[in-house]
Amino acid sequence: MESVGADGNRSVDSPPMDAPGTVLEAVQLLEREGYTANSTVLPDGSIKCGACQKTHRIDGALVDRVFRYEGISDPDDEAIVLAVRCPVCNMRGVIVSAFGPNADPALLEHLVLLDTRFREGSQEARGSEGS
Ligand SMILES: [Zn+2]
Repeated sequence: MESVGADGNRSVDSPPMDAPGTVLEAVQLLEREGYTANSTVLPDGSIKCGACQKTHRIDGALVDRVFRYEGISDPDDEAIVLAVRCPVCNMRGVIVSAFGPNADPALLEHLVLLDTRFREGSQEARGSEGS
């Protein structure tokens, strides 16, 4: 856990330069980048694509970006915004979910997996773009 300094400044991961400040801004940023489908993580560990409405295994999702937020009024009120690509229709989608203590435990497990995957940088599939 992060330590809180005597002056009250919390040291959290410093976000990238272009990181939006709120969940809403993150969603709007991603929409501008073409992530327009409203995708959903299901408790059984699959993702429902907002574009083609098909479900696919979470392992098959391509995670392009991840933004995480703490609640403004309550630090426990975390949220996560994921930019994903659907392996079925190749559309870009956004997943917005509660994260941390307030998240549905069944979903949290899968969200953590996606977050971890993003950090590990499993972007090898990039090379197969441009058909
Ligand atoms: Zn799809």
